[in-house]
Amino acid sequence: MSFDFDLFVIGGGSGGVRAARVAAEAGARVGLAEEYRYGGTCVIRGCVPKKLMVYAAAFADAFEDARGYGWKVGPARFEWCDLIAAKDAEISRLEAVYHDGLRRAGVALFGARAVVADAHRVRLATGAEYTAKHLLIATGGRPVIPEIPGSELGITSNEMFQLEAQPGRMIVVGGGYIACEFAGIMNGLGTHVTQLYRGDQILRGFDADLRDHLAAAMRERGIVLEIQRDLVSIAREAGGLRVELDNGEAHVVDAVLFATGRRPNTAGLGLERLGVELKANGAVAVDAWSQSGVPSIFAVGDVTHRAALTPVAIREGEAFARTVFKAQPVRPDHLMIPTAVFTRPELATVGMTEAEARSAGEVEIYRTRFRPMANILAGRREKMLMKLVVEPGSRRVLGCHIVGPGAAEMVQLAAVAIRMGATKDDFDSTMAVHPTAAEELVTMRSDAA
Ligand code: FAD
Ligand code: NDP
Repeated sequence: MSFDFDLFVIGGGSGGVRAARVAAEAGARVGLAEEYRYGGTCVIRGCVPKKLMVYAAAFADAFEDARGYGWKVGPARFEWCDLIAAKDAEISRLEAVYHDGLRRAGVALFGARAVVADAHRVRLATGAEYTAKHLLIATGGRPVIPEIPGSELGITSNEMFQLEAQPGRMIVVGGGYIACEFAGIMNGLGTHVTQLYRGDQILRGFDADLRDHLAAAMRERGIVLEIQRDLVSIAREAGGLRVELDNGEAHVVDAVLFATGRRPNTAGLGLERLGVELKANGAVAVDAWSQSGVPSIFAVGDVTHRAALTPVAIREGEAFARTVFKAQPVRPDHLMIPTAVFTRPELATVGMTEAEARSAGEVEIYRTRFRPMANILAGRREKMLMKLVVEPGSRRVLGCHIVGPGAAEMVQLAAVAIRMGATKDDFDSTMAVHPTAAEELVTMRSDAA
């Protein structure tokens, strides 16, 4: 049977774009449909605009800290619209880079929603249909909002990037990545932020010391963080949005951000009808090769709900394309994925938490809390936390956890060594780079915290 394409990709985000480019560069005839904007969540309304806003928020610290270093800083004023406009211009530039990269690789682009018509056929919203030997589902995920009265008055991270005016008072619901990151951003930009988290500590799944340290630092910076607290309703009133909490209290705010998780984008795609297994949360069930139960249909990225991170989606897309179109069988490796939460202060981690390691056996803990040198003249009390989880017999470093400036950059490098099996003795015998905060990673001799 002859097909219109060797590969048709649904979704032009991190995973889909990488797979399409690698397959096209290997000589495959590739089509790709994107219903919104090329680049996907990461580029348009995720990692990239978020990080630009984190940079914007960091100036609050810089202005404050400068005084301790002799600078006379006049009153600083932040203009929300200027930041949003600058951010939008950069996002449009990046979108064009993605679009042109695909076009130059020879990928046929369709700016439309696509659904799966059968195991080798897609149907576009325009009515056009195309056949392909392989289909790749790379449709990502979308935010979910709890069903409570008035929840439609709240917003999600999608709208956060396009707000016309900066909210003066804001409630952030959730204790995960997005909630903590936006609480930090908006607090830095001058919004009064109340963050509500239903559990007993933010960032469930991360090392307990990191969670406690970060929560304390966020509070110290003025975020009103309420744990074991949820909202029960939202209503519009003259002064803003009236939010009722589960303890009977009410707040009036200008915006409510729901950062309460994301769901894979599979609704209405037509997959169930073909016998493609979907998990309870809608994720496409795939094997280690990203292949679904229908042999011609593969899926990568957030839609598979393995680890919802851009580098993971990219690796999965690349591994799929190399395996199928370059005869280089490669399975994406999901072990020891380093990750960072771009809070203020930043948090980053790789490997096992202390609790995970303890459940597997004995552990040694090396931990230090200190005031980074830059904070001293600045008069900033905030401390940095570093922690290594070590297996006593082999001395292997099982986990590295950091809260503080530069945490993400440090963990990226520590992850290379830890994945290679570095021991605590390897860390100790590595010469320090002085004066840095990172040198503490190679000079920790005990549990000093
Ligand atoms: P996506 O990038 O979501 O791409 C899917 C694409 O498919 C979208 O463009 C969508 O429009 C399109 N689409 C969906 N359905 C159809 C259809 N039927 N037809 C045609 N097109 C369709 N990860 C990090 O690693 N670091 C971070 O700092 C980070 N920050 C984030 C901040 C926020 C606010 C959010 C929401 C996410 C963040 N992430 C971060 C996660 C990261 O964005 C995702 O893991 C990544 O984008 C997943 O890539 P993907 O290709 O699977 O899906
Ligand atoms: P997360 O899954 O990280 O967090 C969701 C949060 O919402 C949790 O605290 C959860 O609580 C809470 N929650 C869920 N449902 C409800 C509810 N009905 N009522 C109240 N609270 C609720 O999702 P995010 O939306 O923050 O982010 C999605 C994913 O995107 C992340 O997991 C991550 O993979 C990725 N991402 C990565 C970033 C990065 O790399 N820096 C940044 C942003 C996103 P509980 O803990 O009790 O379940």
